[in-house]
Amino acid sequence: MRYQEILYSEWGQNFTQGQTLFEAETNHQHLIIFDNPRFGRVMALDGVIQTTEADEFVYHEMMVHVPMNMHLNPKHILIIGGGDGGILREVLKHHSVESVTQVEIDPVVIDICIEYFPNHSKGAFDDPRLNLVINDGAAFIANNTEHFNVIITDSTDPIGPGRVLFESEFYQGCASALSDDGILVTQNGVPFLQGDEVMSTYRRWKPFFSTRAFYLTPVPTYVGGAMAMGFASKSEITQPSLARLEERTEEIFDLKYYSPEVHLGAFGLPTFVQNLMVDE
Ligand code: SAM
Repeated sequence: MRYQEILYSEWGQNFTQGQTLFEAETNHQHLIIFDNPRFGRVMALDGVIQTTEADEFVYHEMMVHVPMNMHLNPKHILIIGGGDGGILREVLKHHSVESVTQVEIDPVVIDICIEYFPNHSKGAFDDPRLNLVINDGAAFIANNTEHFNVIITDSTDPIGPGRVLFESEFYQGCASALSDDGILVTQNGVPFLQGDEVMSTYRRWKPFFSTRAFYLTPVPTYVGGAMAMGFASKSEITQPSLARLEERTEEIFDLKYYSPEVHLGAFGLPTFVQNLMVDE
């Protein structure tokens, strides 16, 4: 049996589908988890691959340690989405973190990933620093009055429940929720196939952020080339030196992808991606 990802109608990846461990229509999306000989357990939401045991470290380390190592003293963190727990696991590795608020719309994703992807969260959902909120991230941010040093939006693609997390209203709310030197990072699609997401995010960020950047990470099961991670701040954020990043990285245990060299290199963008970063 084979599992065919349906993100693109004209092309896509497919997996040998071993045992189906869980499958359900939740209140928000279709969720399936199955075994694959090469990637281990694989999760898809609404037909789109979300995470696998084999390559999750690439995405989660780069979504977290780039902003966390660029903020001077990240204490209060907001995660939007991230129901599999990988982002939360990596955030909690930073000694400076005093509180993490995670806003996930679908509690089934959390419960099922704790059961079937135990190494994603590794007990992170039991950490006393966590304030777990079950809600739509856009609704949360619209009513939020707290301030955060880093906001990480680990959402599905802008289809289904994730769509609102790519809208101007959400970005405006994130800007209000960030401290003056705060950093927003977003899952921003694969530019070779979803270049419109980079362009629209760049344009929608213009009224709210003075730093608007992207960095690239090649995640094997996010097909079509490297994935773009959006990076924004109300302040001018400059890249730390390699030596400074090496210092900050010393406290982060169990890294398998992130390194100071990879961090700096990720911001070197191909011309076709730079050409997407144009205002109207
Ligand atoms: N790394 C994956 C990617 O790049 O596509 C994302 C993985 S994570 C499982 C995506 C999470 O976003 C899911 O748990 C989903 O329930 C959550 N989500 C989708 N829309 C949301 C919303 N509006 N508010 C909060 N969480 C949302």
